[in-house]
Amino acid sequence: MKEVILCKYGEIILKGANKGSFETILLKELRRRTKAVGNFSVRVAQSTVYIEPESDDPFESDIDAMLEQAKKVFGFVAVTKAAVAEKNIDDICRVAADYLADSLRTKKTFKCEAKRADKKFPMKSPEISAEVGGAILEKLPHLRVSLDAPETVVRIEVRDRGAYIHADQTPGAGGIPYGCGGKGLLLLSGGIDSPVAGYMMAKRGLSVDALYFESIPYTSLRAREKVLTLAKKLTEYTGFMRVHIISLTKIQEMIRDNCEEDYFTLILRRFMMRLASMTAEHIGAPVLITGESLGQVASQTTAAICSTEAEADRPVFRPCIGLDKEEIIKISRSIDTFDTSIEPYEDCCTVFTPRHPRTRPELAKVIAAESELDHEALIREAFETRFTVTVRQFEDIPDTSDNLGGNYEL
Ligand code: ATP
Ligand code: MG
Repeated sequence: MKEVILCKYGEIILKGANKGSFETILLKELRRRTKAVGNFSVRVAQSTVYIEPESDDPFESDIDAMLEQAKKVFGFVAVTKAAVAEKNIDDICRVAADYLADSLRTKKTFKCEAKRADKKFPMKSPEISAEVGGAILEKLPHLRVSLDAPETVVRIEVRDRGAYIHADQTPGAGGIPYGCGGKGLLLLSGGIDSPVAGYMMAKRGLSVDALYFESIPYTSLRAREKVLTLAKKLTEYTGFMRVHIISLTKIQEMIRDNCEEDYFTLILRRFMMRLASMTAEHIGAPVLITGESLGQVASQTTAAICSTEAEADRPVFRPCIGLDKEEIIKISRSIDTFDTSIEPYEDCCTVFTPRHPRTRPELAKVIAAESELDHEALIREAFETRFTVTVRQFEDIPDTSDNLGGNYEL
């Protein structure tokens, strides 16, 4: 029996004139992913992408692996495997009963929902549903039809080139195609929150570069590896990610030696914002992204955020700002970054931490506390330590980088 994957558009259906460019991105991204799992053809019709195996041999076209890939492409509300039947009711009934027999055997109730995109098909949707329901009941007489609360919904879609039958379609990744929303620079630490923040903005179509600050020897190479592992996990959704790395060692030592201890973290975070703004300018990213969540720690109170934001020269997106830790952890588990995030490596923010950090800092006092430092020289020197590592979802498959960077602004 022939099986295909159907990927159904989410919000991009509403995007009118831009829909074509979004489709181009989606098709390109799906085709890139097919290369890792076998031979498939990818085409689009009626706001649905069809992914068809070119071989019956699962070693050549692994449809389950492809399904997992398709579930990580932003822009689809539903992604599902479906059996293909010829466009006549006998074949539709036969395929539906055969294809769904295994999954329905353990169920008690079901209902059929038919959709006729091809209006030339001679039966109306309720008639198709009734016929298919009858065929399923004949094969599996233990089942009952429940229109209000069925355990399984069997869907029959009569489309251009065939009829497609599936049950219990799974949600897609949602969001907007990656790279359609401009470009952002994510301040990526080894913690739980910033990978989640990067994922959330990537889901809204923002193409994401990452920036990691380290402070060797106070932070280790293992800590850097951990951050690169987190970036690699995000590439499951983004395809690839450039991680820019800057050393804060000298800045941190100067802060330690010259500033009032209570303000250490805040002053450091202000330097981070300046360096992040410079890096963003350098790579052409008009916004920054952080994993801050209001009130989570002393440096994330309203006053503290105001004093660090003052050093950013562009908008800072903080998608976790209104989320509780538990909500952030839930997302982090769902994108598989949690287990890496909780590995116990130090972050530069936890080097030389003050015993009594200010939770309601006044900007004037923070500025006074950092006044001994030669800001321009420290910033210039730190920026020169910058280097970039590119991580990829699949090492040997080329990136689709020509899509990215906001060419298709919403
Ligand atoms: P996270 O879990 O993301 O590390 P956190 O709750 O530990 O966040 P902080 O350490 O105060 O909070 O950091 C707040 C935000 O600052 C982080 O979400 C991240 O965006 C950024 N940040 C912190 N440390 C670094 C770092 N070493 N490199 C880059 N960005 C950082
Ligand atoms: Mg942290």
